[in-house]
Amino acid sequence: MNLNLTDAELALHYGLPADQPLDPSLREACAPVVTPWTPCPKAIARVPNPLPVPTACRYCNGVVAITHHRAIYRGRTYGDWPWVYRCEDCEARVGMHPTTNLPLGTLADAALRDVRNDCKKPFEQLWRGRQLGRTQAYKWLAKAMGKSLAQCHFGLFEEQECMTAHQLCLDKLQEAQAQGSVMANAFKKARQ
Ligand SMILES: [Zn+2]
Repeated sequence: MNLNLTDAELALHYGLPADQPLDPSLREACAPVVTPWTPCPKAIARVPNPLPVPTACRYCNGVVAITHHRAIYRGRTYGDWPWVYRCEDCEARVGMHPTTNLPLGTLADAALRDVRNDCKKPFEQLWRGRQLGRTQAYKWLAKAMGKSLAQCHFGLFEEQECMTAHQLCLDKLQEAQAQGSVMANAFKKARQ
């Protein structure tokens, strides 16, 4: 990804002579690598309500460091952006928005990560199943949980909030399915 760096900056980045014009084809080939330390400014600007970068662990006050997936998943990486913030002591962690250094939520220990993942499933079913659009689904959930839209994310929820959201989404799914069958019956009757 080219971040519109000047030729001199690119030369510096790749250890090329800075006083000579950069070959244009080289410039394309030299697109600098985007990392959490050199994130993409456009991607950062697109993240709504960015959260502060964690420095101290909220569980044990340990040091939080940028860590590559390879160090966590035995050499494997997942998704487009293989970086997380991780506590060096208790290993609580949280992912980042792709090509940025912005955390996706608050640090979570293993138990909270599991609860967040599990409880998010019926919510995703709601908007992926087109019962609601994604934004609509977040608006609905925020209202139902008495939260602002900015605070309504599974990455920010504690265990109890995950459980509440989970139940609300299951009820909403059931309601949508019941409405769906009422509609289906109405169409069936109308055709008879
Ligand atoms: Zn910790």
